[in-house]
Amino acid sequence: MKRIAVLTSGGDAPGMNAAIRAVVRTGLAKGWEVLGGRQGYSGLISGDFFPLGSRNVGGIIQRGGTILGSARSPEFETHEGRLKALSQLHRNGIEGLIVIGGNGSQAGAYELSQLRFPVVGIASTIDNDLQGSDITIGVDTALNIALEAIDRLKVTASSLHRAFLVEVMGRKCGYLALMAAIAGGAEAVIIPEIETDPEAVAAELRAAYDRGKPHAIMVVAEGSQYDAEGMAHYFEVHQKRLGFELRVTRLGHVQRGGAPGSFDRLLGTRFGAASTEQLASGEHGVLIGLLKGVIATTPLADVVANKKSLDLGLLELAHLLAH
Ligand code: ATP
Repeated sequence: MKRIAVLTSGGDAPGMNAAIRAVVRTGLAKGWEVLGGRQGYSGLISGDFFPLGSRNVGGIIQRGGTILGSARSPEFETHEGRLKALSQLHRNGIEGLIVIGGNGSQAGAYELSQLRFPVVGIASTIDNDLQGSDITIGVDTALNIALEAIDRLKVTASSLHRAFLVEVMGRKCGYLALMAAIAGGAEAVIIPEIETDPEAVAAELRAAYDRGKPHAIMVVAEGSQYDAEGMAHYFEVHQKRLGFELRVTRLGHVQRGGAPGSFDRLLGTRFGAASTEQLASGEHGVLIGLLKGVIATTPLADVVANKKSLDLGLLELAHLLAH
């Protein structure tokens, strides 16, 4: 192998840059040329590659986002789009590809590997919903940002005796919301995996006040049946009867933009280094992830075919600890 490429796809996650840096420097150490692909699969289709040297990846390990840019490319979801990408890879003399991204991105990587192109995936998404890795790049930093917000809101909630709702990311997976609720000591948590009865949630918050708590915080995942808007509307309509106001804070993209903490820098670095080793070994079509604390590979076919489930025992723990 002489020349490889690396790209980042889907939602950006803090720690992606650490992975890019490790791919480049370990790839160069193997005597390869390393190209960066701009804007995820869109850049792959248009052939937007540029050479990455050691100095190009200097000073990026501490930066959030991705120096390669990321994108969502509907065209790559079509067979024709993937054939265009494949021909660009061949035209540019690229012999292996590393895809840093989440579920959708790894589905794309799998499709490319089905066209017999050597691909290795790196598990990276703040949603932590990727089969094949217990934890993915960006989760820890995003969680710490959510916690900082919750800690601050708790202070003001205690002073003003108001209930607060904090909406965190998570379209289909409540991992971030549940962990933020447990680590932030929230009184209620709402996740997409569980049906929500807003009346029961209101009762939970009321009960927290009745138990003598000075605050009532609820953490909501954005993809929940009742998101921030839905819940705020319900509380507004029923405010008189419920007896307290609900203030809403949406963290949104603030969670993605943070500088990666030590965990994500190290995870990105280890995944990046493992991905070039994997390409060199000749066994591709796999995802690099962390399983039981060890760097491990999972066939992309399994990653795509299986859904990672949330440990709902932790939901019970969150309820228990809210007392
Ligand atoms: P995150 O969940 O962190 O936002 P992600 O990688 O899951 O990251 P998606 O938007 O789901 O983000 O996917 C990124 C890109 O991957 C899509 O825009 C598309 O180009 C490609 N992709 C998604 N699903 C498929 C698929 N089934 N086949 C081929 N390509 C796909």
